[in-house]
Amino acid sequence: MERRDSRAAAKQGGGQAASSGRARPDRAGKQAAEISGRALGRTIEALMKLPGIGRKSAERHAFAILAMPDEEAAGIAQAILDLKSSSRSCNICHTITEDQICGICSDERRDNSRICVVEEPSNVLVLEKSGVFRGRYHVLLGALSPLDGIGPEDLTIDSLMQRLRAGAVTEVIVATNPTVKGESTALYLSKLIKPLGISVTRIAYGLPVGGDIEYADESTVQRALEGRREL
Ligand SMILES: [Zn+2]
Repeated sequence: MERRDSRAAAKQGGGQAASSGRARPDRAGKQAAEISGRALGRTIEALMKLPGIGRKSAERHAFAILAMPDEEAAGIAQAILDLKSSSRSCNICHTITEDQICGICSDERRDNSRICVVEEPSNVLVLEKSGVFRGRYHVLLGALSPLDGIGPEDLTIDSLMQRLRAGAVTEVIVATNPTVKGESTALYLSKLIKPLGISVTRIAYGLPVGGDIEYADESTVQRALEGRREL
């Protein structure tokens, strides 16, 4: 009896919170986009083009921008414009840079004998943050995907082969994603590169640090086991 009462009270309380507190900004945001003019609507639509941003988040961000001082909002807009106008692809490794050759390719202290191959420029950032790898990179700008019509000629594989034929590289570490596309790209590269007498390795994928094995999917656990090393 008591339990039922408390449940009913909680239910009622939750209902009240939804109708008075939490739900209001969302509804207000939607209405604002429709009612308060095109600029707000356009900002919301523009923000929704970003990965991971749905309508709710886009509305929240648009209102946050609206509440900012003018110069702060202008700073965001200018940073995006500068990013687009000054960024280009590195002539050697194809990562994003503002110069013809990126900071990693022009750093003479780095190890010339190893090249780590990744799919996207953002992957270079992640690997660099780990601070473990001191060799060079090569960004494929995608992965092989016959179903989407993406073949070897659509990636930067020719340019990778040119780098390898120059002779300094002894190991290529393939760090493409652990997806079907990433795996088939890794396999393709391995067949292409091994005849040059260069060792081709694949990075081990496994469990995230701080994670719980209980929550990992089977293929992650399988990869973690395959990538094991002696303690
Ligand atoms: Zn580079």
